[in-house]
Amino acid sequence: MDNLQIYNTLTRRKDKFVSLRPGFVGIYVCGPTVYSHSHLGHAKSYISFDVIVRYLRYLGYRVRYVQNITDVGHLLGDFQEGEDRIEKQARLENLEPMEIVETYSRSYFEDMDCLGVIRPNISPRASGHIVEQIEMTRTLLKKEFAYETQGNVYFDVSKFPEYGKLSGRKLEELEAGVRIEVAKDKKHPADFALWKAADERHLMQWSSPWGSGYPGWHIECSCMSTKYLGETFDIHGGGLENVFPHHECEIAQSECAFDKPFARYWMHNNMITINGVKMSKSLNNFISIKDALQKYNPQSIRYFVLTSHYRSPVDFSDQALAAAEKGLKKLQVTIARIQQAINDQADAKKPTNLKIEQYVAAFRAAMDDDFNTPQALAAVFDLLTEVNTRLDSAQDCWPSKNNLIQVRDTLQQTVGDVLGLFPLSEESGKKTGEKVNAIMELLLELRLELRKEKKFELSDLIRKRLDEAGIQIKDTREGSTWQIES
Ligand code: ZN
Repeated sequence: MDNLQIYNTLTRRKDKFVSLRPGFVGIYVCGPTVYSHSHLGHAKSYISFDVIVRYLRYLGYRVRYVQNITDVGHLLGDFQEGEDRIEKQARLENLEPMEIVETYSRSYFEDMDCLGVIRPNISPRASGHIVEQIEMTRTLLKKEFAYETQGNVYFDVSKFPEYGKLSGRKLEELEAGVRIEVAKDKKHPADFALWKAADERHLMQWSSPWGSGYPGWHIECSCMSTKYLGETFDIHGGGLENVFPHHECEIAQSECAFDKPFARYWMHNNMITINGVKMSKSLNNFISIKDALQKYNPQSIRYFVLTSHYRSPVDFSDQALAAAEKGLKKLQVTIARIQQAINDQADAKKPTNLKIEQYVAAFRAAMDDDFNTPQALAAVFDLLTEVNTRLDSAQDCWPSKNNLIQVRDTLQQTVGDVLGLFPLSEESGKKTGEKVNAIMELLLELRLELRKEKKFELSDLIRKRLDEAGIQIKDTREGSTWQIES
């Protein structure tokens, strides 16, 4: 547990990681705003944090991973002017806002499951924490860090001298740099809304001490992180674009409300680019995860993301994905080869065993260095090359069966459990197999019943459709059997 270094945006250097409570890590990552299908930029962000959480667990920490769902209060445009993204989409699609939220939350989890991203322990929704957000706004008003005007409540940035400590921006510069029209009732252009008044056209609104309205975007993350992780907690993560204003505002309101340091390590992931340009919904150059999955297998997308460090941008192209696919293939082929060798191997007469410890040490050193996944993959490939060389030699000189089992288990723990690169677990494979068996049994029974009732058209249809799906049914006197075409 001892050597992990994390680049901390707050201190602008790699800091040794020491958790607040021994053996336990609390991590909060800003989740998606659910108003459309997720794109590859989201894949980079959440795969990166997935591997971070997986590695912390590998090191033996008990991790509580909280990632919110923003379903209210995320406005279009800078400085919170404009329309709520979810409301806008609801108007476009002529739906209830909560229908939009439900549809795209499900879509998001579907995509993440597919990419092997383990679900957070808690996925709290902003709309489910309105009470907490009102409460925190009241506290900030009471302590005079905020002011109310015409049903809006703003945080007064001039009351928090440390404002700008995360992003390195200074208040004076912010004032000079404001390009868009600022709400007229703010004292300072950088003041941000904790609560916004809503008129009757607004679809999502709640009553509050300041009249009917809805929370500002930043306050939800302060409320939900502290509710589930405590007023001071270990790691807060998000995309680089969230450093300012979102995370800066979270720090200001939390530290003023609780008089305590907020998150101790701030981690930010970089973006995916297409031909060097940021992929984003607003630039309309994004590729949705669902579209990408039509073309590439999910493991290749995951591998592609991990070939760059989480703090570096990575450029998306067909060639980059083809290269990822190739790397993944080598990994899979070698692992299959190791398994085959374990099965075939009685025991070598003159075994030449691999010293696995050195590869594990290299893998851990890479991951300890601010989760350097490209380096970690390089360590894995050194091991694969070595194994292949040994297995190319005469069988007598292969590593012993036990040594090969150790290699396989090491790959399971590193590439499988930490990088999540392929479902190595026999357990998950077995479970899928059992499910398929159960479904096929049911279909064969159904088909038998249909034939008894002389509904041959239907029973033939089942056979035809299964055949199209690559599953063949054989009818014999003893009954029907099935097999998957190889
Ligand atoms: Zn957030």
